[in-house]
Amino acid sequence: PAEKPKFKRVVLKLSGEVLRCSETGDPISWNTLRTICEQVKEVHELGVQVCIVIGGGNIYRGLSGSKDQGVDRTTGDYMGMLSTVINGLAFMECLEKMGVQTRVQTSIPMNQVAEPFILRRAIRHLEKGRVVIFVAGTGNPYFSTDTTAALRASEIEAEVIMKATKVDGIYDKDPMKHDDAVKYDKLSYIDALQQRLNILDSTAFSLCMDNEVPILVFETSSIKRAIVGDNVGTLVS
Ligand code: UDP
Repeated sequence: PAEKPKFKRVVLKLSGEVLRCSETGDPISWNTLRTICEQVKEVHELGVQVCIVIGGGNIYRGLSGSKDQGVDRTTGDYMGMLSTVINGLAFMECLEKMGVQTRVQTSIPMNQVAEPFILRRAIRHLEKGRVVIFVAGTGNPYFSTDTTAALRASEIEAEVIMKATKVDGIYDKDPMKHDDAVKYDKLSYIDALQQRLNILDSTAFSLCMDNEVPILVFETSSIKRAIVGDNVGTLVS
C-alpha cells in the first residue's frame, strides 16, 4: 500500500541558510533547492497540503545589519523581508518546473510579484492541491520568519510546524560536541522552555505554545520521512 502520511496540512519552515551553496557561498544553490523541492513534491503527491514559510537569512538579516553596519533596524528588517520574497520566488520556480502547482502569497503587497496574503484564498489553494509559499514574513519589522510560521500555522489550522534544521532533532546536549548526547523523541513546551532549547525564537515559541501548534524539529534531508510519520526528529507539543 502507498505510504499514508501522518499529517494532512503542514507548515514547512525553512531558514534561508538551507539554500546557500556550500562550495561557492552563493545565497541560492539551485542543486540544494532542487533536493528540497523533490521532497516537497513527494509529500505533495501523497496528498499532504503543504505551505512553505521561507526565511531570508542567506541574503539579509535586519538585526545583523543594524549591529554590524549601522543600518536602521526597521529598514534592515524590510530588506530581510524582501530577501524572503527572492527565496520564495526561487521555490516557486523550482517547484513549478517539477510540475507542482504553487502560489506565492506575500505579507507586503507587490501585485506584480505575488498575491497578497488572504487566508481564505490560501486555504482554497491548499484544497486545490497547490503548494502555498508565504513570503515577506509577517510584514512587520522586529519579527522573524519563525513567528510567521507560527502565525500562519495557527491561521490555516496546520497540524504541525515542520522546522527543518541541520540537526536531526533536539538533544539533551550538543550532539556535535558530545558522543553520548541523547535525542528526545518528544518534549513538552514547558520542558523546552526550561531547558532553554532555542527551537524557535521566543515570540514564535509562545505563539505555538498558546495556540497549541506542535513543532517538529528534524533534519532537512528527512522532510518526507517526517511528514510520513517515520520516527525522525523531535516533536514539541
Ligand atoms: N523579518 C522581519 N519581519 C518578519 C520576518 C522577517 O522583519 O516578520 C526580517 C528580519 O530582519 C529577519 C529577516 O527578515 O532577520 C530574515 O528572516 P529570518 O531571520 O527569520 O530568516 P531565517 O533566519 O529563517 O533565514
